[in-house]
Amino acid sequence: MRGKRAKKYRKLMHQYEINFNFRPPYQVLLDSDFLTDTANKKIDVLPRLQTVLGAEIKPMISTCCMRHLYTASPKNESLIEHAKTFERRRCGHHELETPLSSTECLLSCVDPKDNQTNKNRYVICTQDPRLRAKMREIPGTPIVYISQSVVILEPMNHASEGVREKLEREKFRLGLKGRRGAGQEVGEKRKREGDDEGRQERWEGGEGGDARPQKKRAKGPKGPNPLSVKKSKKKTDAGPTERTERRQKEDGAPHDGAADAAAGDEGAEAAKRKRRRKHKPKGDGGAAGDEEGDAP
Ligand SMILES: [Zn+2]
Repeated sequence: MRGKRAKKYRKLMHQYEINFNFRPPYQVLLDSDFLTDTANKKIDVLPRLQTVLGAEIKPMISTCCMRHLYTASPKNESLIEHAKTFERRRCGHHELETPLSSTECLLSCVDPKDNQTNKNRYVICTQDPRLRAKMREIPGTPIVYISQSVVILEPMNHASEGVREKLEREKFRLGLKGRRGAGQEVGEKRKREGDDEGRQERWEGGEGGDARPQKKRAKGPKGPNPLSVKKSKKKTDAGPTERTERRQKEDGAPHDGAADAAAGDEGAEAAKRKRRRKHKPKGDGGAAGDEEGDAP
């Protein structure tokens, strides 16, 4: 495998690890057609898959697929022996008279409850385009197939991309909040960890994810701002609203009647005095008087 493709695949599997909790050894579910193809094209399947996925793998085969190998018209004994060494995925179809098609069987293995979740985090190896199309609808399902003796890992499907982007946006949002203050950082971190747990639960338990809205509700302020409560005492006899008081402080000069109301506020008082002093020389017009005197 060329370097560029190896790097691409490594990145891709890394995305599956981050967003869908994949961990090596990856559980790789191979269907009978895929195995037959590897045998026909003389591909040493397990080492090749290990190279493509860039980590240890645990090969698996379903009971139905094993039966397909036994009933194949040119029976490949060595392939059967090889497949016997894989871990058997008991699909529960062994009591049926004829095995299910690989498509039906693998679909029931990956998503038994039909809720679009790859609960056991399987990597799917199949040559059936219909099954691949079905698997693309399930978020977090890596798909491998063979094209002209090349083992290919499909790019992440749209369903997975959607989930990945959603998680990323959430992380970004939480990251911004964490920066508000040093004191809050610990609390935020804890909250983030809690969210991660919720996320994991969602992937393990199917739909889930109900815990989050409740957490959101707890975030808001629990009572009035203590700073505003203190000031309300003054407000009762003073008259002006808190906002006008604040505006006066900012301006440095109270407006008419409201000035007396803010009498307790020393800052405002000082500002008033200062302003008067400034006004006096201007109003009495020392300079203006001189001008008048000079004019005639
Ligand atoms: Zn089956």
